[in-house]
Amino acid sequence: MDVYGLIGNPVGHSLSPPMHEAGYEELEIDARYVTYEPEDAGAAIEAAADLGIAGLNVTIPFKQDVLDHVEPDETAERIGAVNTVDFSSVGSTNGGRPTGHNTDVAGVRRSFAHHDVDLDGTTAVQIGAGGAGRAIAFALADAGASVHVANRTASKAHDLASDVPRAEGHGLEAVPDLLADADVLANATSVGMDDDVSPVDADALHEDLVVFDAVYSPIETRLLADAAAAGADTIDGAWMLLFQGVAAFERWTGEAAPVEAMNAALRSHLE
Ligand code: NAP
Repeated sequence: MDVYGLIGNPVGHSLSPPMHEAGYEELEIDARYVTYEPEDAGAAIEAAADLGIAGLNVTIPFKQDVLDHVEPDETAERIGAVNTVDFSSVGSTNGGRPTGHNTDVAGVRRSFAHHDVDLDGTTAVQIGAGGAGRAIAFALADAGASVHVANRTASKAHDLASDVPRAEGHGLEAVPDLLADADVLANATSVGMDDDVSPVDADALHEDLVVFDAVYSPIETRLLADAAAAGADTIDGAWMLLFQGVAAFERWTGEAAPVEAMNAALRSHLE
């Protein structure tokens, strides 16, 4: 039996176990997905390698710490964070180090692709410049969008924008004017999580926008409800969560993930 898992703190309410295990069940793969709250990310990676763990997801607060304990790929290096560790190289080529990946970027890219949104040549406004914001900004830019990053702490928007191609940083006050000419709005703040508030004034939304929200609890945030009311297309945060898991699943198992089964399992745990 292969063992996969998630390290972070807290991980008690993670939706990754039911999502991944639905995938194993659908493909009849003999595997389990477990969660663990370690004291120290480096020691956890070392122990996982010794124990023969096949793959680990990594969440807050260890996504950056893990970089020092794996061989990061180009995406993980650019983002400066690892959310997926693959132990298949341990004991072989690169000196036994597991490899580190960031599937949040693929998660965002595949969320838009799944909704038939071609980002190439679009203008995107992204609100938020934290951990999720970094992955989202790179995903939008990699797909060909020009990205306006706006953040409550404007200096963080400028810092992120300086790392991302075709990106500009702003304070939040710029958002309504930027949205008037935008094709895409992405919320990368935690505003709307477990609370009926939106990071954007509803009057600034319009029917030519595709609105993506990283927040997945609730699934229909106030922002997405306002966007739908304005006639915009919407992509909820469960898609990003699903497709980052799908990308990890496919890297670890080498199989095409059963997306529908994983999506159904994930959404059955969300409201
Ligand atoms: P983070 O690193 O702590 O960043 C939080 C961001 O939200 C910062 O830009 C912060 O601005 C902004 N913010 C917080 N409160 C605000 C407020 N009241 N008004 C305006 N801006 C505010 O968090 P994160 O890891 O990026 O996560 C952000 C959200 O994305 C969370 O809801 C998380 O659950 C979600 N997420 C979803 C997925 C997925 O797969 N769907 C993956 C990762 C994260 P300042 O810089 O000014 O503080």
